[in-house]
Amino acid sequence: MERRVRVRFAPSPTGPLHIGGVRTALYNYLFAKKHDGDFLLRIEDTDQTRFVPGAEEYIIETFKWLGIKYNEGVGIGGHHAPYRQSERKEIYKQYADQLVSNDFAYYAFDTIEDLEEMRKKLEAAKLPSKYDASSRMTMKNSLTLSSDEVKQRLANNEPYVIRIKLPRKDEVRFHDIIRGWVVVQTTQMDDKVLYKSDGMPTYHLANVVDDYLMKITHVIRGEEWLPSAPLHVMLYKYFGWESVMPQFAHLPLLLKPEGNGKLSKRDGDKLGFPVFPLEWTDPFTNEKSSGYRESGYLPEAVINMLTFLGWHPSDNREIFTIDELFNEFSLERVSKNGAKFDQNKALWFNHKYLQMQNNAEIANSLMTLAEINGYNTNIDFMTKAVSLMKEKVNFAKEIIEKGYYLFTHPTKYDEAVVSKKWSDIVHQFIEEFLNIIKKEENFSAENLENSFKELALQKSINTGQLLQPLRVAISGEAGGPPLFNMIELLGKNDSIIRLEKALKNIKY
Ligand code: GLU
Repeated sequence: MERRVRVRFAPSPTGPLHIGGVRTALYNYLFAKKHDGDFLLRIEDTDQTRFVPGAEEYIIETFKWLGIKYNEGVGIGGHHAPYRQSERKEIYKQYADQLVSNDFAYYAFDTIEDLEEMRKKLEAAKLPSKYDASSRMTMKNSLTLSSDEVKQRLANNEPYVIRIKLPRKDEVRFHDIIRGWVVVQTTQMDDKVLYKSDGMPTYHLANVVDDYLMKITHVIRGEEWLPSAPLHVMLYKYFGWESVMPQFAHLPLLLKPEGNGKLSKRDGDKLGFPVFPLEWTDPFTNEKSSGYRESGYLPEAVINMLTFLGWHPSDNREIFTIDELFNEFSLERVSKNGAKFDQNKALWFNHKYLQMQNNAEIANSLMTLAEINGYNTNIDFMTKAVSLMKEKVNFAKEIIEKGYYLFTHPTKYDEAVVSKKWSDIVHQFIEEFLNIIKKEENFSAENLENSFKELALQKSINTGQLLQPLRVAISGEAGGPPLFNMIELLGKNDSIIRLEKALKNIKY
């Protein structure tokens, strides 16, 4: 019988979720949706030393912002609760014990000094310094100590760990949906710790046990976990869970824009783009990192952009709504090669999504920012400002930032235009155009443009000499939205005041 598709995103709350992590969550979500399956959020917090306060809340807020919905997990519960590994502590011990009783794992009592000595000895002998089938027989563990001594040490509460006992020479093979067959020799692996002296499982044990108990069918995660996969496969084998072992899909790395190396937490603000979905203030150092949300990105654009970092559809379309992605997404079209982060593409996606947004809605979202800037405006004016400016910007807030002159009078006038193009003739022309405007009954862009052209023709001046000076007189800036539409939007009274001020203040 086909099993119901169940996937999970299993982050460790060790800091703000990186956009690479968001992409992993997103691919899991899309895959679950595509197959009418379940998507779980499990928090893997067994390494208490790396816990960062606020990290879990950050993940949940990110999901909310992006509209990534999970149907089981922290915060909402479900059949397999709890979903926070620190609250499942009791579950793991019995599984570690089961492996010890079946001779698939063993107690190890080595101190840090013992391990250090082993490392030195192996290095001196030019051998790989790892705890494995060869070296374990020289160490203090339940394979080398008498069973009485082991019992005694356990009874005395001596610190110990439980290590997996890997076969000396064997081959581990599994099929990865993205990478194909992966084959690793156990001689290249080591007897990883499964259970620690603090009574907590390590990531490997907890991850495998929970994936099994939570009936996970596909493990979709970052490439950095590929080296751990053979160990996980061995655990499925040792537990006798091979028939329900999830299928693996290890996603390609997100690379720096120039392509060399993994996109790191530090790259973002250094290179001028966020690498985190939301702004984050480090609780220990107070250091701030910028986020996509606060930078003004639309969640739909971020979803589309992230999906395309490592995946491509069957045709060359680039704009996909989330519903279209649910249909179109497949792991088979995820690339093996690392995906270079492309900031311009991120901006492009945001630009595209901004164009699709309703003007009144954008206007609404900008009213507070306008107020903060002290602009006295109304929703009607703002909606028209949006329709004029939208095409020229990547972010909604740029309508106010770049188009500030729509809301306030210019205090300076583009120097290059003034020095190159302003003259007595231009000055006089603008004076006369002002008089026409004063008498204009029909203040439409079309009408204004006609009057402008007529006057220019009458005076035999090329409009090319006049357009930029008029724009600068109105807005102060050399570029901007279509000039006569802008004048129409500003209205008769305001345009008159602006032109009068310009004629008085522009020194040429
Ligand atoms: N806890 C691991 C992480 O932080 C999960 C890896 C996995 O999905 O198995 O990424």
